[in-house]
Amino acid sequence: MSDAAPIDAALQPLIKAAQEAAANSYSPYSKFRVGAALRLDNGAMVAAANVENVSYGLTICAEAAAIARAVAEYGPAIRIRAVAVANLNDAPSPPCGACRQLLGEFIEPDAPVAFASEAGPCAMPFRDLLPLAFNMKHE
Ligand code: ZN
Repeated sequence: MSDAAPIDAALQPLIKAAQEAAANSYSPYSKFRVGAALRLDNGAMVAAANVENVSYGLTICAEAAAIARAVAEYGPAIRIRAVAVANLNDAPSPPCGACRQLLGEFIEPDAPVAFASEAGPCAMPFRDLLPLAFNMKHE
């Protein structure tokens, strides 16, 4: 986590929104209550919680739910300027690999991503979370 930096105060409202969303988590199987909040380029904040399923594999991460909600509310041209992921389990919860790829579709490379790490709260630029991202630049 050498790239992790202390969390900028400007991210605190986003972290709070992620924590509040986590309180609405549907996680009867893992009990892992996660919330994610996105700050969009239009200034809007969009938050969501994880939604589990009895089949486990159909579980939707909080980040994925927040992205879907942001597109539904603001359209396909959204750009993400900052992200916060929080959980109510006092556990590390960086975005999973799948969510990093999902975020990569809409996020600015230098957008800060705040989450709980093994070393405590931290934030790092998205590009450090998903180096060598798969994208359409190969066309
Ligand atoms: Zn995920």
